[in-house]
Amino acid sequence: MIDLSTASKEMIEFAAKSSVENCLSYFRQYGVGLSYRPRLVFVDALEETSPTTLASVPKRNVGGASWFSKESCRAYNQAVYNRFFGLSLSEDALDEIVKNQEKEIKELHPKTIKNADIIVYKNIRGCKRPLAHVMVHEVWHLIEHEKCGKSENKLITEGGATYVESRFCRVTPKQLAGPYCPLHLRLLYNDSAEIIREIIEPKTNPLKALLDPATRALINENLYRRVWSAFQDAFLEYEVYNSWLERKIMSEHPAYAAFRQNPTATNLINAIRARGYVKTADEIASQNMTRIVNNCRRLIGV
Ligand SMILES: [Zn+2]
Repeated sequence: MIDLSTASKEMIEFAAKSSVENCLSYFRQYGVGLSYRPRLVFVDALEETSPTTLASVPKRNVGGASWFSKESCRAYNQAVYNRFFGLSLSEDALDEIVKNQEKEIKELHPKTIKNADIIVYKNIRGCKRPLAHVMVHEVWHLIEHEKCGKSENKLITEGGATYVESRFCRVTPKQLAGPYCPLHLRLLYNDSAEIIREIIEPKTNPLKALLDPATRALINENLYRRVWSAFQDAFLEYEVYNSWLERKIMSEHPAYAAFRQNPTATNLINAIRARGYVKTADEIASQNMTRIVNNCRRLIGV
């Protein structure tokens, strides 16, 4: 076992590639394979939009950000402004938000390596889980993507990969969750994996069952009915109060310089407008901004 905290880029890539080979032979025992040899790259930096990411599978993603879809971005912003800040936005303002956020996320991903199938990030250096466990999760994403295509339901994607990981580690999906795991992540990964386990574990070949369209339809139905709304609520609450990305933008973007010095509603409006969210700025300026201003203050600690 190599010490990842001090290992060179080459050593980490070598160790991760060997883990991938082991995972592929583990999957072959179940008659499940990948038609190509995945290309793996180690990047000694944090993932640009989510600093806790250990590894990702960029090919599965569209436009560099796995989780960016126009529909979910729109629904997310509408819920945040409405439910958490008591502000209402027109359809035009929401269109503008979606356009801007898509652009901002693309700009944040200059380092995304388009040719890699698996990217391993700097965080792996401090990771307590063995590399093989992280890789089995990522390789499963590739297999599922090749066999089933892109899924609309991220609970089946993450829950499925977590179930496979738990099976590989011979523990239950719940046991994989760390003690400080935030609620939305526990729902997305571990609780979804428990439901998947309940459905496919009795089958002769659970991994093949997880790729079977009829079984996936049953899993999706269960996940939407039993986890989806709790996950959405927990995700929103976590993001609004802890958004790493918003905090980074507000702490560094020149548009927020005046707000950082003097965090008033007027300075926030000017910052939002200067950042390119003109319609949003115009619309919220005439509403009660107490809650949004307080949240922005809290996020950047002023
Ligand atoms: Zn995953």
